[in-house]
Amino acid sequence: MTMLQGRTGVFLWAAGMASVYAAMSFLWSVLGFASPVPPVHLHEYAFPALVTEVGGHILFGVVAAAATMDAGLVLLAAGESVLIDSDHLLAALGYPVEGRLAHSVFFALFAAGVLAYLAMKSGRPPRGVFFVTLSSVAAHFSYDVFAGNGVFYLLSPASFAAYDFPYWTWLPLVAVAVLLNALPMVAARAPPAARGDAG
Ligand SMILES: [Zn+2]
Repeated sequence: MTMLQGRTGVFLWAAGMASVYAAMSFLWSVLGFASPVPPVHLHEYAFPALVTEVGGHILFGVVAAAATMDAGLVLLAAGESVLIDSDHLLAALGYPVEGRLAHSVFFALFAAGVLAYLAMKSGRPPRGVFFVTLSSVAAHFSYDVFAGNGVFYLLSPASFAAYDFPYWTWLPLVAVAVLLNALPMVAARAPPAARGDAG
């Protein structure tokens, strides 16, 4: 029973954090009204394609998050992997904004910072949340490139310029996603001497 409550608690925590992440991604896209573009009719929401897309994003996010060996962080990464695309909503509804404005380095850092703060407030280690959030953005970029669309508004909202990532970059992107989770794990487990604070 205690175990069940524990698991339910972890699930609810991850779902809550992922919901905040989705809201932040959506609000980031609202910044796009500062630089309106002609509305486009998107064709990428056909149901079978959507199922493949969602599955692919979850797969990449979970593979990268497995390095944390933390169920809560893996669940959070699974949610984040898909929910960054909340920044598509306005464009999909026909509003004159770009559809990927949260696909941005600044969004990644902002969201990671906010979620790490919330983690700290909820009594969980903020560092894992910070890095898993950065990792899930890198993993998401990787699958977007892999699936055939590597156009990102990398510096939004400082700049609304689009950067088109070549296909081969999906591999280094997913490697970065894994390392963002693996390196802090290794650092945390290294003996004090290896961290340079011996004595
Ligand atoms: Zn995307």
